[in-house]
Amino acid sequence: MRGLFPFLALYRQHWGRLLLGVILAITSLSASIGLLSLSGWFLSASALVASSVLFNFFYPSSGVRGLAIGRTLSRYFERLVTHDATFRVLANLRVAVFSKLIPLSPSGLNRYRNSELLNRLVADVDTLDTLYLNLISPFISAVMVILFMGIGISFISSTLAWVICGTLTLLLFALPLIFYRLGQRSGRQVVQARANYRSQFIEWIQLNAEFALFGVAKSKRAELHQTERAWLSAQSVESQWGGLSNALLVLMNGVLVTVVLYLSATAITAPNAENPEALIALVVFCVLASLEILTPIGVAFLHLGQVVTAGERLNEIMQQQPSVQFQGNAPWQNVEKNRPLVRFEQVAFHYPNRDQQVLNGISFEIMPQQRVAIMGKTGSGKSTIFQLLTRNYDPTAGQIWLNNCPIETFAESTLRQRIVTLSQRVHIFSDTLRGNLHIGNPTASDEALLAVLAQIGLSYLTEEEGLDLWLGEGGRPLSGGEQRRLGLARLLLSEGDILLLDEPTEGLDRETEQQILKLILDHTKGKTLVMITHRQHGLTAFDRIYRLDNGHLVE
Ligand code: ATP
Ligand code: MG
Repeated sequence: MRGLFPFLALYRQHWGRLLLGVILAITSLSASIGLLSLSGWFLSASALVASSVLFNFFYPSSGVRGLAIGRTLSRYFERLVTHDATFRVLANLRVAVFSKLIPLSPSGLNRYRNSELLNRLVADVDTLDTLYLNLISPFISAVMVILFMGIGISFISSTLAWVICGTLTLLLFALPLIFYRLGQRSGRQVVQARANYRSQFIEWIQLNAEFALFGVAKSKRAELHQTERAWLSAQSVESQWGGLSNALLVLMNGVLVTVVLYLSATAITAPNAENPEALIALVVFCVLASLEILTPIGVAFLHLGQVVTAGERLNEIMQQQPSVQFQGNAPWQNVEKNRPLVRFEQVAFHYPNRDQQVLNGISFEIMPQQRVAIMGKTGSGKSTIFQLLTRNYDPTAGQIWLNNCPIETFAESTLRQRIVTLSQRVHIFSDTLRGNLHIGNPTASDEALLAVLAQIGLSYLTEEEGLDLWLGEGGRPLSGGEQRRLGLARLLLSEGDILLLDEPTEGLDRETEQQILKLILDHTKGKTLVMITHRQHGLTAFDRIYRLDNGHLVE
């Protein structure tokens, strides 16, 4: 349960609305109980009154009307206010989770599947909405309304007040304890199974073609069914406990009504009342209506297991410390021609989750406007050098210098502005062609976009729908070569000084490769270029060529 404390802190920002919600909940609950009690009393008093006696039916009947209207209105506004407050809290929570999530990328997030993260961000955050709506608010209102009932009934009979309030209070504190315990296991299972189901389902949709090709579609489908059954059975256990909670409450209420009915024959001491017998109906109906106070409590605490699990799952992400922290904010000085722009000094590195050393103390310098090629066998650590230069990871030993400053002294925005990367895998967003190109430069005009597309030979994409062409999920309708060229277009549009290209011509035919290489070299005149490549030809255009081998760099 302690896992929920960090979330309660978020509620503090909206305490005004939350408090108003609780006040409205108390009002509507009181009106509801008042309505039933008053009606009960009114009916029996009217029946009991002798026909000759004057009976003021005006006050009670207008009271009934007032309470009915009051109940409806306060219930309506209670729902409005509590939901509004909850959604505000959830919005803050989602932003809080998301802003914790982003700096963790990529080293902290590698171990989660995307669907799993999405699940936590959406479903687990949603589950927390019950914390206030179904737990805190009903519980506080229950305590207050029972107190009011006690005060009210004590005017009629203190014995009855003690019996009724004592029993209700006992139930109010016992029910949550019992049902929290009962629902703990199934709640955990519901949250876990729901997450598993969603992950598997997304995987199943995304990889459907692969599953079919490799003949595992059936077994994967069976796995999905299995998870679904686990989810349903956990839900069914929870509903059964919910049913038990309701049944138990109705039973307890019936017992209490019977006891109160029995006691009120002698316990009602209201000598000044006109028709003391009618007060029996008032008290009994009041007890009947009290069911409304307790019904939400049992079921809500049954769900507390789910809420706690969801909270723990969110905490697991929120309490992680990013492996790379951007704390510096050094200004970017003018680049001096005769000083190295990038300098690696005895840089060693291994990935946090692996012991194998990828870089073994490498040192090299890149002067401004130099063109450097990095070669090496697959898996030798070429892309890793880029990972360090973009500070996706920090070196385990040694120092990287950028424009004469340690790389950590720059803010993330400075780094992203100065260093532009074309990574090995270009990500195409489910967006238009325009939207995908704007990633490179959000302010580029349509003309500039079209010109770049022409340069890289992708003009034909714009023939039918222009820049509004929709590129589907992950750029699936594009060939691998087209995706790479689109990545290159982003790079050409961007305004960074240092360009890092990870095998930009991979997957292109000879002719296109030469064109693209020429384009890159032409476009990057006056910029600093580091390019990872497997190919030998075209290397004459580079000032330096390094080979990475066994974690060592040779020129
Ligand atoms: P390629 O030419 O195939 O792109 P590369 O030289 O770019 O290869 P890197 O991607 O730098 O190779 O990987 C170097 C080594 O580090 C490999 O053994 C790889 O398995 C490992 N590696 C890469 N990324 C990670 C990661 N995120 N976590 C753990 N190990 C990694
Ligand atoms: Mg690579």
